[in-house]
Amino acid sequence: MPTKINRRTALSGAAAGLALAGTRAEAQSAANTVAPLFPLPQTIIPIAGEERGFPVRRIYCIGRNYAAHSREMGSDPTREPPFFFQKPTDAIQFVAIGSVGEHPYPSLTKNYHHEVELVAALKSGGREIPVDQALDHVYGYAVGLDMTRRDLQREMGDQKKPWEIGKSFDHAAPIGPIHPVAKVGHPQKGAISLAVNGKVRQNADLSQMIWSVAEQIAHLSTAFELAAGDIIYSGTPENVGPVVKDDVLLCKIEGLPDMSIRIVAAQA
Ligand code: MN
Repeated sequence: MPTKINRRTALSGAAAGLALAGTRAEAQSAANTVAPLFPLPQTIIPIAGEERGFPVRRIYCIGRNYAAHSREMGSDPTREPPFFFQKPTDAIQFVAIGSVGEHPYPSLTKNYHHEVELVAALKSGGREIPVDQALDHVYGYAVGLDMTRRDLQREMGDQKKPWEIGKSFDHAAPIGPIHPVAKVGHPQKGAISLAVNGKVRQNADLSQMIWSVAEQIAHLSTAFELAAGDIIYSGTPENVGPVVKDDVLLCKIEGLPDMSIRIVAAQA
């Protein structure tokens, strides 16, 4: 008499846990029963006034979210639904309050651009999050830079290829500390600006976002299951432009401390 083998009995241990796991959390806990071959550092952003930091799971970025910036990129801001891309988690470069972060000019580009952005950090997530509940998932906010190899981004766009090389490289996501909602609320209006060597280049208001942070979370959650640790770069206003070695960038968002970096020579 043949032995009846079903899927469940054919698998064992962690493999069974992985194969049969119904949720992401179950799958991860099964995977964690295997010891790592080498240590892998977790990306953690310090939180202002807190001992513990914010562990980063994913970095989402929205494109063309201020009308004037959308036009300068050659798009029509009135007809475009929101779209997103990701940066790798280890692209984070943390910059402490009152310091000037040394930011290496990246390889391959000859047109390296600044994009100052408000960043929202999630303490929880889910799928199909309604707009009116979206902000309940936000832990806090930070000042960030979506640094961009513009020439490579454009080249890839022209060829209908992914933006990866223009957006998702090492150090591409400078960020200041996260400020809890309990202290700074939900910034929805107020100045957002960036100066290079003391000269203001970008200067707009958070209220000019086409898609609010709440709408961004709602949209993202239709495409991805969001979770605690996800952060969202909420888009940059107009007048993005190039930086070169020795430039000092000063980023300001009303209600949050400034964030500053200096462009330094490429790393050997
Ligand atoms: Mn951006």
